[in-house]
Amino acid sequence: MSDCLFCKILDREIPADIVFENEYVLAFNDINPQAPVHILIIPKEHIATSNDIDAGNMDLVGEMLVAAKEIAAKKGIGINGYRTVINCNEDGGQAVYHIHMHLLGGRQMSWPPG
Ligand code: AMP
Ligand code: ZN
Repeated sequence: MSDCLFCKILDREIPADIVFENEYVLAFNDINPQAPVHILIIPKEHIATSNDIDAGNMDLVGEMLVAAKEIAAKKGIGINGYRTVINCNEDGGQAVYHIHMHLLGGRQMSWPPG
């Protein structure tokens, strides 16, 4: 049994509000949304951080981005736009060590990020 929160969501040990799933990724609403649309997209393989992406799993990053695009279109934010974010380690603000892409939209994003 995994100690990883997002692996537990993948295994349906912990409930989540799932909005999208395919062979490679699972996506669910963030429990503490920072925008009208705030969805997390995770690979079905446990990868801890961006630093752990290599030739063996780099395809999954593309799958995450394609899923983000499709979910954004489905949520009606594709045309106005959205932001995708992957936080890495402490300075990046990463709290859950199973790589995830935040999909944020439904409001004007500011720059620079905090
Ligand atoms: P990060 O800081 O990039 O690691 O993002 C972790 C995100 O996971 C935060 O936005 C949290 O609100 C979110 N989160 C934590 N636990 C859960 C959960 N059980 N279900 C959905 N989202 C969660
Ligand atoms: Zn995991």
